[in-house]
Amino acid sequence: MTEAVASRQPELINLLDLDREGLERFFAETLGEKRFRAHQLMKWMYHQHVTDFSQMTDVGKALRAKLEQHCEIRPPQVLFDKGSTDGTHKWLLGMDPSNAIEAVFIPDKGRGTLCVSSQVGCGLNCQFCSTATQGFNRNLSTAEIIGQVWTASKHLGNKTHHQRKLTNVVMMGMGEPLLNFDNVVRAMSLMRDDNGFGLANKRVTLSTAGLVPMIDKLSEVSDVSLAVSLHAPNDELRTELVPLNKKYPIAELMDACVRYALRKPRTSITFEYTMMKGVNDKPEHARALAKLMHKMDQQVQRQDSAKVNLIPFNPFTGTRFERSEEADIRTFQKILLDQKVLTMVRRTRGDDIDAACGQLKGQVLDRTRRQSEFKRKLEAQGVSDAAA
Ligand code: SF4
Repeated sequence: MTEAVASRQPELINLLDLDREGLERFFAETLGEKRFRAHQLMKWMYHQHVTDFSQMTDVGKALRAKLEQHCEIRPPQVLFDKGSTDGTHKWLLGMDPSNAIEAVFIPDKGRGTLCVSSQVGCGLNCQFCSTATQGFNRNLSTAEIIGQVWTASKHLGNKTHHQRKLTNVVMMGMGEPLLNFDNVVRAMSLMRDDNGFGLANKRVTLSTAGLVPMIDKLSEVSDVSLAVSLHAPNDELRTELVPLNKKYPIAELMDACVRYALRKPRTSITFEYTMMKGVNDKPEHARALAKLMHKMDQQVQRQDSAKVNLIPFNPFTGTRFERSEEADIRTFQKILLDQKVLTMVRRTRGDDIDAACGQLKGQVLDRTRRQSEFKRKLEAQGVSDAAA
């Protein structure tokens, strides 16, 4: 054995990887400390954004020494951050030497929403999504997910129990959160924990492309709000836009949504619908969508158990889709509203820093072959790789 190997330190545990229960267990079983000490530490980590144990003034010297020996508090590395003229802020966060993801903060009247990523890249290949063109590398750890909230919260000077700038978190960034179930659930519990970021259940939203069995599993362990990327009201079109639909068609997906809504009587489910010119923005699509929403309301026996969020498509280099005309979006919305379906149009934000919905890219070392295929397609269209 070489000297270097013999003297290697055991790997430090990143405390951002543990939720309250995990941290309590770690304190009791590994450090031989009282469980409540874990809460003290959480407040330093999440309320004060302190990562250096020596600054935790109410933690005794002996415990600090143990913490330094066994653990670290290591948020993701900020590689780059940029603010938009409209108040939107984007971070490029290094997750390892080869991969980086993006998180975006969007302030709006009385609320501030952080859009968080759950994977490096995404393997689901939704046709209108910029992340999909990059392929997939790996799941993010709990620390890497909650670390995005930590970074934004620190930057914004967020103070728990004060007027907070960061009021909502949406798991709508890069990746399909339900394919990284355990880490996402743990991170979401830290978002809602009073010793963590203290957000109410309804202010944490998980968005899925429609993994039916995992929606059921989520309803058993968490009370967060659910958003479903629908994007089409019939199977033929949805399978084209969201290939996962082939496995879990709309009827099965809507049944899972009904079950989720029945288990969470106070929450409504948001259906996201990205509006693409001439693809899914015709009046007949709006009427079919209204029917789906009505059926869900009837099954849940509650009006507005389903609401629709129309998202004007945000173009990216190499995409074959275009944003729907403003007039078509308004007509689409009116058809739904006239049929008493609660429908909002999401305002496009952060356009000038490529932070709009569906535009998050980061930096993904693709382990599939999708990125190279996409680059080949771009070259065939005469678009250079650098532009992508
Ligand atoms: S829309 Fe979401 S699920 Fe679909 S490819 Fe993009 S990141 Fe993945």
